Amino acid sequence: MKNLHEIELMYVKGVGPARAKLLAEELDLKSVHDLLRYFPSHYLDRSNVYKIRDFAGDMPSVQLRGRFISFNVIGEGAKTRLVGLFTDGTSTMEVVWFKRIKQLRELYKTGNEYIVFGKPQEFNGRWSMAHPEVDPVNSSQAQAEFRGIYPLTEKLRNRGVTSRLLYQWIQNALAVYAPSIPETLPAEILAQYRFMGARDAILTVHKPTEAETLRRARERLKFEELFYLQLNIQRYSTRRGGAVRGIPFLRIGQFFNSFYSEMLPFPLTGAQKRVLKEIRADLGSGRQMNRLLQGDVGSGKTIVALMTMLIALDNGTQACIMAPTEILATQHYESMRSMAAPLGINVRLLTGSTKKKERDVIAAELADGSLHILVGTHAVIEENVAFRNLGLAVIDEQHRFGVVQRARLWGKNSSTPPHVLVMTATPIPRTLAMTVYGDLDVSVIDELPPGRKPITTLLRFDDQRQAVYRSIGKQLAMGHQVYIVYPLITENEKLDLRSLEEGYELICDTFPSYRVTYVHGKMKPAEKDYQMKLFAENEAQILVSTTVIEVGVNVPNASTMVIENAERFGLSQLHQLRGRVGRGAAQSYCVLMSKRKIGADTRKRLELMTRTTDGFEIAEADLKTRGPGDLEGTMQSGIPFDLRIANLATDGQLVQLARDCAERLLDADPALAAHPALASELARLYPRPVDLSRIS
Ligand code: ADP
Ligand code: MG
Repeated sequence: MKNLHEIELMYVKGVGPARAKLLAEELDLKSVHDLLRYFPSHYLDRSNVYKIRDFAGDMPSVQLRGRFISFNVIGEGAKTRLVGLFTDGTSTMEVVWFKRIKQLRELYKTGNEYIVFGKPQEFNGRWSMAHPEVDPVNSSQAQAEFRGIYPLTEKLRNRGVTSRLLYQWIQNALAVYAPSIPETLPAEILAQYRFMGARDAILTVHKPTEAETLRRARERLKFEELFYLQLNIQRYSTRRGGAVRGIPFLRIGQFFNSFYSEMLPFPLTGAQKRVLKEIRADLGSGRQMNRLLQGDVGSGKTIVALMTMLIALDNGTQACIMAPTEILATQHYESMRSMAAPLGINVRLLTGSTKKKERDVIAAELADGSLHILVGTHAVIEENVAFRNLGLAVIDEQHRFGVVQRARLWGKNSSTPPHVLVMTATPIPRTLAMTVYGDLDVSVIDELPPGRKPITTLLRFDDQRQAVYRSIGKQLAMGHQVYIVYPLITENEKLDLRSLEEGYELICDTFPSYRVTYVHGKMKPAEKDYQMKLFAENEAQILVSTTVIEVGVNVPNASTMVIENAERFGLSQLHQLRGRVGRGAAQSYCVLMSKRKIGADTRKRLELMTRTTDGFEIAEADLKTRGPGDLEGTMQSGIPFDLRIANLATDGQLVQLARDCAERLLDADPALAAHPALASELARLYPRPVDLSRIS
């Protein structure tokens, strides 16, 4: 059997060297294997033929059936184009080609019946279509019950590579190489779930004949994709049988008990209690804890972290907590110290700007064990920071703490790795969490502390700005503070920066009796921290900024947030931003400012924000509309994945099945010794292991 990875695309009939190069550059397709696994993004059903008469609004690509009435070559030089007048009996539209004019003029005949596929566009009430695919009605292409539509890039289209051409190349490749398509899934899994074989599945997705077999073929390929992804994550997981040993925390001692009985500032919520139970069970199990704690902003994760650290101290070990920024670390330090110091617990802060003298004290106290809790930034995981006995590491707001950083923590203890608690305020849909955090157990705080006033979210348009400013004025007069947030997206950075600056000036002019600060991502960190501090200490009442404030800043006196160009943000990001207000006793407001002219989908998305504050509902909506790659949490996890056929928003059951199968297989055969085909496919798909420093 031939190895399809080793056969270059230029040898496929019809492709050749130039196009092979183009396919490699544009679609990352290099071998016959890659080509056969380039799947249609969707299918056209032959029964689904549109009528020109029914065209309206923003049209998707559609299929039409009809005849050309005439062809004319119009314009000169670069503007030369071929225009066909097409009718389907209900109305007419112009079909326009800018390239290959001569060949096409000869190819298409007036009077013959064709199937035309393309995206209709409207100019001055007239419909037209540029460079559609055109097939005679009786051709095999047009007669296939389902027609796969392959995603293409602009450049490919410009070079004359159409979905149909790609289809043809794939068929040519299949004609020669289909017998060499290997099966890599274990026979027992195929049998148990009645999955279609690899070869049949690939033949079917490229040339389906009926809906049910197409569904089964896609199901098999989706499962395969998710299964390998899960294998890659699970093979390093401590959840499995041969789990990593952890320091058993068997005692609940004085620190925890005194805190719980005498110092708890408020009764814990039911969710906080449940999560603490889950954590205690992990810590006592003798296995290393690797737990993700998800809880919306304000749900009270900090106290859970502190109480977990107290358990570590009760068992004679040290603990650390890390935050992504200096400000956050400092805030944690202050709240930890105020809660822990009365118990005689020694807490210190280590960040990039900690002075040498303090560093020396920290180093000495870490070494002799008299430092109980170290709060800090990334500085904590640097090589030169050595603990006497680190029992627990808490990572707050896991941004930028990917798998790699987590792995580094493991080295902080010579014998047994510390327990790890990762906390995130980014709600992640379950399927995505299973995928990107498949190596972590997940706890969720799904209940806010009592008495919170829900944030009122309003959608306002640019022409209502004066009214919005009047409301801001009222909040300021009541002694509250206000955030004003601008998007900053790299593509048009200059423009964004200008609108931020203009916004700043407008705000200064509008509210002359208040102090306004100004923060953006291009500032030096020290300057940024200084400006933020002015706001945190109420020296300034208005903060105009880009999304740099997104992570964790806590200013309970800020009651209002205005988000400019809200239509340009993702929903999860809006949700994160909004979480900066509503932290105090006062009623809080989030005003989403937008242009009045926005698409129906955008409007729906923004309206969802005004309706719900449930982060999980918002994240689900984001996953559906934007896909996993754009979601917070995906990139942070440090696990690269690129799904070609499975969809985390809609294939939840398959994700679960893939995860279960991967776990079971690895439990039975951790080294995949009995599954060589599977092992080599896994190594090929994921050449670099996720976990860089599995402790020896
Ligand atoms: P986050 O999960 O966003 O880190 P915090 O831990 O900062 O949330 O908690 C937000 C606020 O809620 C803090 O002021 C905290 O003191 C308060 N809080 C936490 N838990 C409770 C509770 N059970 N009852 C009342 N207030 C609480
Ligand atoms: Mg927090």
